[in-house]
Amino acid sequence: MSERLDTYRRKRRAGETPEPFDDPSAGDPNGRRFVIQHHLASSDHYDFRLEHDGVLLSWAVPKGPSTDPREKRLAVRTEDHPVSYADFEGLIPAGEYGAGPVIVWDAGTWTPAAQEREPDTAATAAGRRRLVDEALENGHLRFWIDATKLSGGYVLQRFEGEDQWLLIKVDDGEADARRNPTSTEPESVLTGRTPEQVAGDEGGH
Ligand code: MN
Repeated sequence: MSERLDTYRRKRRAGETPEPFDDPSAGDPNGRRFVIQHHLASSDHYDFRLEHDGVLLSWAVPKGPSTDPREKRLAVRTEDHPVSYADFEGLIPAGEYGAGPVIVWDAGTWTPAAQEREPDTAATAAGRRRLVDEALENGHLRFWIDATKLSGGYVLQRFEGEDQWLLIKVDDGEADARRNPTSTEPESVLTGRTPEQVAGDEGGH
């Protein structure tokens, strides 16, 4: 497993949490999975994850993503996760790190964008990796999402220190100020369950 996952492993106890520890998908340097997990932990939040270079880059977004370009959502960078975490849905037991239910709220793929309004489809895989590394360094990552609930351009803009970013919808054809998918579409795209249902299904025994 990548040493980039040391922090992930240090925070969790294998055997005590159902979260993945092995990572069969690591090693595809060109993978571009996208997932948002709704995590009803002690503080309710959405985990926004982008596959890059064998791990899932991760941000915790307390209010979740918006489809309104005028809404800037706080996104706190958190530790890289194993790529297999993109399929994780379940209940982290009481007493463990991040205790509470997790659902796969949205899933699909993503593409980093060098240009203002176009996904950079012509770039090579190595070119895209470099683009993302530079964007993380510079604190300005622009990308396109193709998922079940969210699509179109988004920007992650760092504004303070290492970890404080803003998640903002690009004002494109997929922007819609009237949509509010975190409240109107609360179910898992994998199982149709809400976090409360996952807690009920897997807790209490
Ligand atoms: Mn979380």
